[in-house]
Amino acid sequence: MKIICIGRNYLAHAKELNNEVPDEPVIFLKPDTAKIPGKKVFFLPDFSKDVHHELEVVLKISRNGKNIAEKFAHRYFDELSLGIDFTARDLQNKLKAKGLPWELAKAFDGSAPTGKFVPLANYPPVLDFHLNVNGKTVQHGNTQDLIFSFAKIVSFASSYFTLLKGDQIFTGTPAGVGPVKKGDKLEAYLFEEKILDLDIR
Ligand code: MG
Repeated sequence: MKIICIGRNYLAHAKELNNEVPDEPVIFLKPDTAKIPGKKVFFLPDFSKDVHHELEVVLKISRNGKNIAEKFAHRYFDELSLGIDFTARDLQNKLKAKGLPWELAKAFDGSAPTGKFVPLANYPPVLDFHLNVNGKTVQHGNTQDLIFSFAKIVSFASSYFTLLKGDQIFTGTPAGVGPVKKGDKLEAYLFEEKILDLDIR
């Protein structure tokens, strides 16, 4: 199973980190070891002093495909969840400054937890989602603000990587990213339904 992640897919988030708005999807990968067994606890890595939460809608690929046309892309995912693209921001800033790949800052163990997966068909086409940290809403997203649609992302990624059933796609974070600390409790909601629960240790 591979995890494909999209960077800078919401305008307000690209701007909050002073990044250019991309003209095609920004893509990076995480290995399957970025999943958290049991999915309930995230352990802060000791190589960073500034690990950020990035709340994202996560699509699960439902069938194998390559070079998928955008108009058929919806046939390749039928479940979604909410996940956190944990990012060691201090390390990422160092890597970005040197023009180096982001993997050390993005793809470490446990960096891609997701909540439960739910059928896409149960929800309206435009999704509203938010993240609470210790009961306070810190990120709020709506998929009408995506720069690149789910279909565009799936199509684009599949022209470089064969998509396999079970792969996950993190579709980018809205504005409001910020640091997590030991003892924080993260709860992610799709509309008013709780999808993800995570304790930071
Ligand atoms: Mg992200």
